[in-house]
Amino acid sequence: KRNVHRPRIFLPHLVASMEEVEQTYIMIKPDGVQRGLVGEIISRFERKGFKLTGLKLFQCPKELAEEHYKDLKSKPFFPKLIDYITSDPVVCMAWEGIGVVASARKLIGATNPLNAEPGTIRGDLAVQTGRNVVHGSDSPDNGKREIGLWFEEGELCAWAAVQEPWLIE
Ligand code: ADP
Repeated sequence: KRNVHRPRIFLPHLVASMEEVEQTYIMIKPDGVQRGLVGEIISRFERKGFKLTGLKLFQCPKELAEEHYKDLKSKPFFPKLIDYITSDPVVCMAWEGIGVVASARKLIGATNPLNAEPGTIRGDLAVQTGRNVVHGSDSPDNGKREIGLWFEEGELCAWAAVQEPWLIE
């Protein structure tokens, strides 16, 4: 008799060892926290299928904000940017997945929310560059660098998500 309930065999550990798996640093900026958008923003990354590996609410010290944005030091808006990021708590997150760095940038949308496509976080939820609710690393190298800056090693978790075989063939 044919077994119609034959279970599938999944090997999730193979997924985690794949080369395309990247890490990105996503941060909900103080305006996103103040506006009550934390759940909304986390949901978008969860629903896409990425894996959360680090999460905390954090009051950012000035030195860390300056280090994080050091490439923008010469910009006229730099002091205002540091004041903004350190003005109130942020939500720090590490996300993992295949192509997560570029995909997260797409989910976030253009730097100026007025240019961000509808359907993106900034396109749907923000109006000004100086209050654009969320940060996402712009390269895999910066993803690693920024996760290292914002998290202690013990704050990150490696775990196998039960949905992985349904996301990745
Ligand atoms: P993104 O965050 O999209 O990677 P950038 O790396 O260019 O963009 O800039 C980092 C952050 O600096 C922006 O998200 C925004 O908060 C701030 N910023 C950039 N340009 C301006 C500007 N012209 N005026 C005010 N803030 C700015």
